[in-house]
Amino acid sequence: MILETTEQARSADAGAPGSFALDPRLRHYSTPLPRPDLTWTPQVEEATRHLYERVAKVMPPVEWPFHAPYVKAINDLKKLRNAVILAHNYQTPEIYNCVADFVGDSLQLAKMAAASEADVIVQGGVHFMAETSKILNPSKTVLIPDSSAGCSLAESIDAADIRALRAQYPGVPVVAYVNTSADVKAEVDICCTSSNAVKVVESLGVDRVIMVPDRYLAQNVAAQTKVKIIAWHGACEVHERFTAEEINAYRTDHPGLTVIAHPECPREVVEVSDFSGSTAAMIDYVRNRKPARVLLVTECSMSDNVAAETTGTEFVRPCNFCPHMKRITLPRILDSLLDMREEVVIDPAIAARARRSVQRMIDLG
Ligand code: SF4
Repeated sequence: MILETTEQARSADAGAPGSFALDPRLRHYSTPLPRPDLTWTPQVEEATRHLYERVAKVMPPVEWPFHAPYVKAINDLKKLRNAVILAHNYQTPEIYNCVADFVGDSLQLAKMAAASEADVIVQGGVHFMAETSKILNPSKTVLIPDSSAGCSLAESIDAADIRALRAQYPGVPVVAYVNTSADVKAEVDICCTSSNAVKVVESLGVDRVIMVPDRYLAQNVAAQTKVKIIAWHGACEVHERFTAEEINAYRTDHPGLTVIAHPECPREVVEVSDFSGSTAAMIDYVRNRKPARVLLVTECSMSDNVAAETTGTEFVRPCNFCPHMKRITLPRILDSLLDMREEVVIDPAIAARARRSVQRMIDLG
C-alpha cells in the first residue's frame, strides 16, 4: 500500500533511538524516511549484544559503539521495507555478520535472493553483483548503497568488445565470468564463476572458446582443460598484486602454512598454493579441513569473516583490500534503505538476454 503523504509516513516513524515503528503500511513506501537517532545508548547496547558476539574475535570492543547504532537501525529498517541484505564474502565483518541476511559469492547471493519473499534487495557488493541480482530478480527492487562501487574486471570490457571478438573469431563461443556488466552478459553465450569455469568451458563441446574478462582465471582454467582458451586482458586489481615470491616468504615465516588462492590470482601464485577455488570453495576448505595455520590469498576481509566463525585455525593475513567493495559501509546501507536508492535499473531486453547467459550456466548444475 502507498501512503498518501510524507506526514503519514513520518508519523509512523516514532520508535526509540535507533529504531523504527514497524508500520506495515510503509512496506512498499518509497519516499525517503527521516534519519533515526544513532546515539550509543544502553538500549542499543542491549539490543545488539548478541550481534557483537559474532564479531568479537575480529573487532575490539572499543569499535562496537560506532557500529551498533547503525546495525540496530538497519535491522529495524529491513523489516519495515521487507528488505534483505546480500553481503559478499569481501564485505567487512560488521556488515557480513551483523546486518546481512545472505552471505556468499555473487552468484550464490543472487540465487538466494530469488528464493526469498523480500520486496527489496540491498546489495552489499559491487555494481555488477547488483546487476546480477536484478537479472535474476526482475520483479524485486534492487538497491546498491554506492553505485560507484565498480570492479576492475567488469570495467575492462564492454559489449562492443564482445562483438569485436566475435568478428575476429567467427563461430568461437564466448564465456563470460560473472564479474561483467549486464551489457556484456547479454552478448555472450554463457556465464561462468570461478568454481565452475572448467565445467562451463568443457560443456560447450568445442576445441576453442573465448573467455572474458580475467586473463588469470583464463590461464588457470587453461591449465585444467584441453580446450584452447582465447583470453581477454582484464585482471582483478586485488588478486593480481600477489606474487609467488610473497607466498614463498609467508611459508618461510610461518611453518606448516596451508595456502589457499583464488583463481583470479596469477598462475604462478596458484602453482605455489595448496588449493585454489572460489571464495565459497575457500571457505569450505577451512571449515572442513580445519588447517592449523592458513593463508587465504584473496581480499583481506574474507579472512576476518572466516576467522570470526572459526576456532583452532590461525589466519596469516596479508591485506590486499578491494577499494570498490569498501565503498559499501553501514552508513551507506542505512541511507540506501531510508531513501530507497540507488535503484539498479536494466533495460528489460538486455536483462532478458543476460538472464539467458546466466541461466544457461545455472542449468549446468
Ligand atoms: S576484488 Fe577484484 S574482482 Fe572483486 S570486486 Fe574488487 S576488483 Fe572486482
